[in-house]
Amino acid sequence: MRLEGKVAFISGGARGMGAVESRMFASEGAKVAIGDVLEEEGHRLVEEIVQAGGQAMCLALDVTSPTQWREAIAATTSRFGKLDVLVNNAGVGGFTKVEDTTEAEWDRVMAINAKGVFLGTQVAIPEMRRAGGGSIINISSQLGLVGVDNSSPQYQASKGAVRLFTKATAIQYASDGIRANSVHPGPIITPMTEAGRADQDRYALTLSRIPLGRYGRPEEVAYGVLFLASDESSFMTGSELVIDGGWTAQ
Ligand code: NAD
Repeated sequence: MRLEGKVAFISGGARGMGAVESRMFASEGAKVAIGDVLEEEGHRLVEEIVQAGGQAMCLALDVTSPTQWREAIAATTSRFGKLDVLVNNAGVGGFTKVEDTTEAEWDRVMAINAKGVFLGTQVAIPEMRRAGGGSIINISSQLGLVGVDNSSPQYQASKGAVRLFTKATAIQYASDGIRANSVHPGPIITPMTEAGRADQDRYALTLSRIPLGRYGRPEEVAYGVLFLASDESSFMTGSELVIDGGWTAQ
């Protein structure tokens, strides 16, 4: 098993890509802690994983709260003994132009998508150092690499921030054996993209920008995240794993 003996924390793991990663990690031998604001969904997923023979727990976590991060990571290490892997996956989208974006909406998205990654990383590092090293995987986006007209400025700014924050983390903690990499998915079939896929014009526009001609499946991103979590990627840090159907190759 590719994650045998590892303990992983996945923020926003209750649904979407985070849920698929939680299931995959558990089936590859990891003990998985899911932190999410969607506690009911998180607990249901934990039951499912446990019934399938895996080990998992769910914790209430709003990633914008340093206190909740501290409590969630402490509960994880107290139950599973250590922390080897952190997937900063929680995130929210948005569809506005610069002039229509309120300050409150800018702050909300930046707090969840960018500050949340910083807060989680800050709490995880001492635990990973204690464990003798670790792997931090930050979920950015293809929109953390290039701009687009039909997302939102705060979404793209937040995902760009995640990209460079990841490199800063990688460089600062390489000597502790802590690796940090960002993942850049293109459009994926999850609840986040439901509204966009239901709107025919938006759907067609998005498809026209994907050389492979379709949205990705959550599993297609999760396999990349699994690789980064495992020791198979032991010489990889500070890098960007792009899984976008060719969007940014054009
Ligand atoms: P999703 O909406 O299905 O899942 C996001 C999860 O994050 C949910 O479980 C949600 O409850 C949780 N979350 C939101 N705010 C939170 C908060 N404050 N605290 C804790 N948890 C919170 O979305 P998804 O598509 O699975 O997205 C996962 C990640 O991938 C996000 O960071 C997203 O920006 C990124 N991403 C998604 C796509 C896509 O096309 N779906 C593309 C590129 C990047």
